[in-house]
Amino acid sequence: MTLQTARPTPDPNPTNMIPRLDIRRIDRVFGGRKVVDDVSLTVLPGQVTCLLGPSGCGKSTTLRIIAGVDRQDAGEIRIDGQLVCDTVFRLPPERRSVGLMFQDFALFPHLSVAENVAFGLTGPKAARRARVEDLLDRVALGRFIDAYPHELSGGEQQRVALARALAPRPKIMLMDEPFSGLDNRLRDEIRDQTLQVLKDEGAAVLLVTHEPDEAMRMADEIALMRGGRIVQQGAPYNIYNAPVDRAAAAFFSDIN
Ligand code: ADP
Ligand code: MG
Repeated sequence: MTLQTARPTPDPNPTNMIPRLDIRRIDRVFGGRKVVDDVSLTVLPGQVTCLLGPSGCGKSTTLRIIAGVDRQDAGEIRIDGQLVCDTVFRLPPERRSVGLMFQDFALFPHLSVAENVAFGLTGPKAARRARVEDLLDRVALGRFIDAYPHELSGGEQQRVALARALAPRPKIMLMDEPFSGLDNRLRDEIRDQTLQVLKDEGAAVLLVTHEPDEAMRMADEIALMRGGRIVQQGAPYNIYNAPVDRAAAAFFSDIN
């Protein structure tokens, strides 16, 4: 069997691309309050979209609904053109082709690095092994293939979690504040390495963050969220230079 190479090829007709993720008019109500309010968003193949906003604005709830571990009260979600949920139909999380990464890397402590990365893989053993080795090389952890999570630093564990989430080639990667558990000193470097790996894999990514500088550094597209709503969406440069209102300007003002 030949292994797929995951290098992205440029799409000759980007305007005709089916979005990897297409969220339409999602609401989520908790205790009578709309925590997610009419949120629509698309992520195109190979793109990193950042859902950016202050703590409590509804980012994680949105991500949980996409992953399928929570449900919406209105609206629908498509992944690669396929309906995964509306208000009557729900595909279970394991059938949505989503890769998940959270602040807490949640590696399996009793499994080796190789076993962690192979966890979601199916197919012939040799192909699984080749995929694990390739990914671990790409996150510069080849020498730790037989190590256990407790033997690794925080940054190394983060990269194992990245390799594990990418291994089954999910159609969309959902990342919820994946760098906030890391040492300040390391964070920029790990953000850059992570972005490089995501781009090399051609992954489509929805990255949740409350840090404007992280969104500016990583995003192709930013969706600015506040009070459950998306208040502005566009290229980082445009959002930074032409914030929609005073509150958006203030939110970006402490970037240096
Ligand atoms: P963010 O990730 O942007 O910090 P969240 O999506 O976690 O925000 O939360 C948005 C709001 O929804 C918060 O006010 C939070 O308290 C509330 N919330 C989240 N989950 C629940 C829940 N299961 N029940 C009730 N309220 C919730
Ligand atoms: Mg959150």
